[in-house]
Amino acid sequence: MENAQQVKDRDKLFLEKAHKTCVKIGKAYEFECPICNGYAIGMKSNVNGHIVASCSVCKMRVRQ
Ligand SMILES: [Zn+2]
Repeated sequence: MENAQQVKDRDKLFLEKAHKTCVKIGKAYEFECPICNGYAIGMKSNVNGHIVASCSVCKMRVRQ
């Protein structure tokens, strides 16, 4: 059973990787999921500059 802190750390890890990967606005980037090493995809919105990323393997999803 995961506790809240573990979930938070995992979210942070995923988001940090997405931030490093998605440098240009409006372009989709593929990256290796830091949680499961699966295939993840992220994008920086051209509307508000927010990062939206998700992993197709572990279903991790972040938005910031
Ligand atoms: Zn994953």
